[in-house]
Amino acid sequence: MTHAMSAGDAPALAVENLRKTYASGVEALKGVSLTVQQGDFFALLGPNGAGKSTLIGILSSLVNPTSGDARVFGISIHADRGGVMHQIGLVPQEVNFNQFETPFEICVNVAGFYGIPRAIAKVRAEKYLNELRLWDKAFRQTRTMSGGMKRRLMIARAMMNEPRLLILDEPTAGVDIEIRRSMWQFVTGINRAGTTVILTTHYLEEAEQLCRNIAIIDHGQIIEDTSMRRLLAKLDVQSFVLDVTGLDGALPDLAGVTLTRIDGQTLEVELPNSHDMNSLFAALTEHGITVTSMRNKTNRLEELFVRLVERENGGKVAA
Ligand code: ADP
Repeated sequence: MTHAMSAGDAPALAVENLRKTYASGVEALKGVSLTVQQGDFFALLGPNGAGKSTLIGILSSLVNPTSGDARVFGISIHADRGGVMHQIGLVPQEVNFNQFETPFEICVNVAGFYGIPRAIAKVRAEKYLNELRLWDKAFRQTRTMSGGMKRRLMIARAMMNEPRLLILDEPTAGVDIEIRRSMWQFVTGINRAGTTVILTTHYLEEAEQLCRNIAIIDHGQIIEDTSMRRLLAKLDVQSFVLDVTGLDGALPDLAGVTLTRIDGQTLEVELPNSHDMNSLFAALTEHGITVTSMRNKTNRLEELFVRLVERENGGKVAA
């Protein structure tokens, strides 16, 4: 029944006009629509409180939507929650396993929840604990494991039902670079093998490196939904901070260039990529301004993200 309803070419995720108003009155999702194609590596980005966890909570049956629908490989969360759960592996933000159990027990027990026979569960547990480099810790209590190991264990656990859609909710927050790399190696591998991956993250550079498509959510609304390549191409302007002397009079007026006086010694410049630096420096020199040092304001994606959020909020950066 479940699988008959799951069309072979249905998107991995189709969210339609999803709304969530909590009992407190907070409108966490204000009509979110989103499609993630099968096989994609998709980034869901947004500042704190944007609604990411609420959206993931709805997909994983932890939160009831107020209205709207979400279909996972064609299966509606309203029609068949269990069917949806079988398609999804979730790596939550917080460590949420019993720390007195061993990794092996944690993996085998979760498989029981999915109705997977114990003999198969044991084979899978060994496979995924091995792939996540935890096999040597498989029979020890998890409370002594490092934070990075606990995260990897949550990935192994999420793989036990061999999900077609793996959702990782801020999986690398506070995890050192070494561990992050090994996590991404694993996740990139299963994505190549066909598993659709959705990643929420604050680490924009991580999203830039890993993901093919991206949606940005802010205040419960999708404000951008595009390919990573197109999103980055939009950013044809670079921002620099200049330390200067002689900033007494008027600023030069250069077509396409925005100059902002930050204080008596600092200028901020927004410069289209097509614009050369020499004419900027020449114009500043003409106005008696000397540049003593300069630096990039932020990384590209970070900058774009701030700008999009500012645009949505009428010029104010979201808290
Ligand atoms: P994110 O994951 O992007 O940080 P959340 O989905 O956690 O965002 O939160 C979205 C909004 O909903 C926030 O304003 C948050 O305070 C609120 N919120 C989240 N969970 C609850 C809850 N259980 N009850 C009431 N408000 C909540």
